[in-house]
Amino acid sequence: MSLPIFLIGARGCGKTTVGEALSRALGYAFTDTDHHLQLSTQRSVTEIVAEEGWEGFRARETESLKAVTAPGTVIATGGGMILAEENCRFMQEQGQVIWLSASPEVLAERLESEPEAAQRPTLTGRPIADEMSDVLRERAHLYQAAAHHQVNAMQSPECVVEEILLSLSLARA
Ligand code: ADP
Ligand code: MG
Repeated sequence: MSLPIFLIGARGCGKTTVGEALSRALGYAFTDTDHHLQLSTQRSVTEIVAEEGWEGFRARETESLKAVTAPGTVIATGGGMILAEENCRFMQEQGQVIWLSASPEVLAERLESEPEAAQRPTLTGRPIADEMSDVLRERAHLYQAAAHHQVNAMQSPECVVEEILLSLSLARA
């Protein structure tokens, strides 16, 4: 059976970009928990957070994770998915968990170049580079603990996909 592959990591690390490419390489389906959340609630992340707070958002995120998990699927997860231990345990038990790791500078650069419409509310209202630094300081150990494999996400998407395929084949060998 082809176990699901979960991509975890901070906003901007390439979960959606790399996830789509990885799914094509494997002939898997691709799904995105954020996308599922928006479709199922008919609201944007910004709207959900405004109406229900981050706590409400997190509860819905767990529901989305469980709803999209299926064999033969690459799943891009929300950046905060690893904040709930329940989510980490679920992903570890159901499939392979890959952490796309990148420096705060690279993450900030990528997010700053996105159109404003695609940008999320910042957690703190401070400059994005400072915020990514803090977020990674708080969460790196959670990504590390949740992941079966850590890959360097600061390479081209093609190279990131190659590194993931390599770590998965080594894991199977
Ligand atoms: P995530 O889903 O983890 O938030 P995205 O896949 O949406 O990240 O990528 C965020 C931004 O960074 C996008 O503009 C995307 O084109 C760019 N990006 C993603 N991965 C890479 C990469 N490996 N190299 C360069 N740019 C990338
Ligand atoms: Mg994404």
